[in-house]
Amino acid sequence: MSEGENAFKLASQLYPIYRSITGTGARETLRIVSDYIDADDKFRIYEVKSGTKAFDWTVPKEWIIRDAFIEAEDGKKYACFSENNLHIVGYSSAVDKWINYEELLDHIYTQPDQENAIPYVTSYYNERYGFCMSEAEKKELKPGRYRAYIDSDLFDGSLSYGEIVFPGEENSEVFFSTYTCHPSMADDNCSGLALAAELARYVKSLSRRRYTYRFAFVPETIGAIVYLSQCNRLKELKKNVIAGYTLSCVGNNGDYSIINTKSADSLSDRTLMNILRFSENTSGRFKTYSYLERGSDERQYNSPGVELSLAGFSRTKYWEFPEYHTSLDTLDHISIEGLQGSFDILKEVIDALECNYFYKMVLPCEPQLGKRGMYPKVSQKGVYDEIQALMNFVGYADGKQDLIEMSDMIGQPVRVLIPIIKKLRDEKMVLALSKKED
Ligand code: ZN
Repeated sequence: MSEGENAFKLASQLYPIYRSITGTGARETLRIVSDYIDADDKFRIYEVKSGTKAFDWTVPKEWIIRDAFIEAEDGKKYACFSENNLHIVGYSSAVDKWINYEELLDHIYTQPDQENAIPYVTSYYNERYGFCMSEAEKKELKPGRYRAYIDSDLFDGSLSYGEIVFPGEENSEVFFSTYTCHPSMADDNCSGLALAAELARYVKSLSRRRYTYRFAFVPETIGAIVYLSQCNRLKELKKNVIAGYTLSCVGNNGDYSIINTKSADSLSDRTLMNILRFSENTSGRFKTYSYLERGSDERQYNSPGVELSLAGFSRTKYWEFPEYHTSLDTLDHISIEGLQGSFDILKEVIDALECNYFYKMVLPCEPQLGKRGMYPKVSQKGVYDEIQALMNFVGYADGKQDLIEMSDMIGQPVRVLIPIIKKLRDEKMVLALSKKED
């Protein structure tokens, strides 16, 4: 099966599970992802106790939901949690009482501009209860008395997150992070979980890794903050991370998007933009969002004091598609092709980073390629393109720019330059320097 097919299958498996920032659904999700990557117990699931401090935040109580619905006097039920887990406001407190229609309306959330969509609503830090339903279902409710029933518990438990690290030859690392806290919405974020797991499998399969690769699976916001505050991780990440990405909404068929870092010029930005520019998947078409339009955990990873320079990666980005944060974000909204495309892009990013050195030709002047069998026997148009890529690489390999910059300068995709570099290195004609030549 292709990576896209595998990722789609995994996303489909994760889709029905009810997740929140804590609780059994997030834990089950981590277990499934861990089994999927199958990395000899290297995938670690951490539990952080309720009440634990994390910078300015505190790990909340754990929340469990068993059932919820609204019942009319005639016995008819509405907003049944068992039918769609978006019917409940996340972190709702327990309730079982008969209330009148007017009071009930205060506890109902709809998406007024989308008649048939159940909105995704949470209230993690203000204790309340609420139901979410479509405008169409709300219209069925008539004045009368209703039973509001939510069987939930808030208790001292823990917040769960997962992490796997694949060591490389260097301590410098490439970091991917995605979030585990959203209930049944396919693109946001079963797609991100599935893509991260698939990329972890790819990294695991590499026979040689120059860089260390780290994948974090955390509840959004609070989970990323807790993650950074635990295990001396902030210090370690600040020391080692050279590039990284947050993954969100990566399964649809829309244009690829990058959410830039503040500088828009970090290695994360430059590499992803270069790959998007030259990828056969994009034909040069992709969307660039400034850091002002950040929304996911790139907010924490780039915050003052953290400054890891992670860029965001999406296809059509969160906020930008009508199904976003509603029950319309079903498995129909994502596809095998959508996930495969995202995988292809980030695989190319990884391949490019692995080869990203400052290349420097060993001898002055153009090398004599003919005697090494690297120049065509005859000069004829057609073979000229390959030679031009080679000669431009050679002409710019002065140790003053890295491979990504060079690719941008000479207008050749990294995937075309990689085999050229291999030939030149085999012939000992070029040096790969870790640092820029002064
Ligand atoms: Zn979301």
